[in-house]
Amino acid sequence: MNRHALDELKQQIPLMGYLQAHDWSPARPLSGGRWMGLCPLHEDHKPSFLVDTNKDLFYCYGCGRGGDVIRFAELYHQVKFPQAVAWLRQWRGAEPLLQEAARFYRILLHRHSEAVAYLYQRGIRSQALIEHMGIGYAPGGCLRGWLTQLGHSLPALRQAGLVTSVGYDAYVQRIVFPLEGNLYGRSLSLAAPPHRFLPGSKGGLYAWKQVQSHPEVILVEGLFDYAVLWEVGFHNVTCSLGTHLNAHQLRQLCDGPRTVYIAFDADGNGSGQQAAQCLSRSLWERGITARVVSLPEDHDPNSFFVQGGDARQFQSLLEEAQ
Ligand SMILES: [Zn+2]
Repeated sequence: MNRHALDELKQQIPLMGYLQAHDWSPARPLSGGRWMGLCPLHEDHKPSFLVDTNKDLFYCYGCGRGGDVIRFAELYHQVKFPQAVAWLRQWRGAEPLLQEAARFYRILLHRHSEAVAYLYQRGIRSQALIEHMGIGYAPGGCLRGWLTQLGHSLPALRQAGLVTSVGYDAYVQRIVFPLEGNLYGRSLSLAAPPHRFLPGSKGGLYAWKQVQSHPEVILVEGLFDYAVLWEVGFHNVTCSLGTHLNAHQLRQLCDGPRTVYIAFDADGNGSGQQAAQCLSRSLWERGITARVVSLPEDHDPNSFFVQGGDARQFQSLLEEAQ
C-alpha cells in the first residue's frame, strides 16, 4: 500500500470514531479538540490517554505510546503493521454492508412465522426485546439480490462473508443478531451447524456500553441467555458469545472495579462450568471479583427461564454464587 492509500485509509477512519466503536469514551475535554480518557492499551485508573481529534493522533502519558489510528490498531489488536492496515481496510468496507444486511434481515423477521415461532419457543417474545437486540431473520436466497440492487458489489459481499464464494447467501434459515463488526446466525435447521459468525472477530462483549457502569455484571455464554435475562429485568447482563473470551473481551471485563457473575451452561460434560472456573481464576488474578453461578444440571440461563424459572429464583442463584 502506498503513502497516498494509507493517508486515504486514515482519513476514512477518524481515530475518535474507531476508538468509540471499541467502547472508548472520553472522560473530559481539553482545549482545541483534544480529549482525555482512560487508556485502552494499559490498565489505567486515572485518565492518561490523550486524543487530538484535529491531528487524529493519540498519546498515553501512562504507557508512553502514541500515534495514528493504524498504530492504535497495531497495539490494540496486537498485530503487526500490515495486519493492522488489512484489519482497518476490512473494517471500513464491511461495517456499512453489515448494517445494511442487518436492517434487511430485521424487516424479514415478521414475514416468516417459523422464525417468530422459534424465538417464542426460546423465550424471546416481546417486541421491545426484539428491537433492543435488533434481531432479524435470514431465509436465504434474497440478501445478495437486495444488496447488489442497492449498488454493493458482489466482491464486497464476498469479502464481508455475506455471500459464499459460489455466490449464495451465507446465512440460510438463521436467526440473525447484529454484533460489533459481525453478524451471529443461529440455524433453525438441524441439518446445519447451529452457531455461525461471519469471518473476522466476534468483537467485544455484547452491549458492553450499556453494562459497563454497573458495579455487578452477569456474564453469559449465548445471546439467547442474554435475551431471557434482559427480558425479566436483569439489564446488567452481557454475553461473551462462547466460553472463551478474546483478549478484547477480557480487557473490557477488567476495565474497572466490579463483580462479575459468570452464568455459563451447566452442561452434562461439565465444560461450561470448567470454563467458568478457569475464567473466574483469571479475573481474580486481575483484581476483579468473580463468582460462578451454579445452574441446575443440564440448564443454561435460557432453558432455566423457558422452563419456568423466574427472576426471583435466578436472583437467589446469584446470591448463592461462589
Ligand atoms: Zn496507556
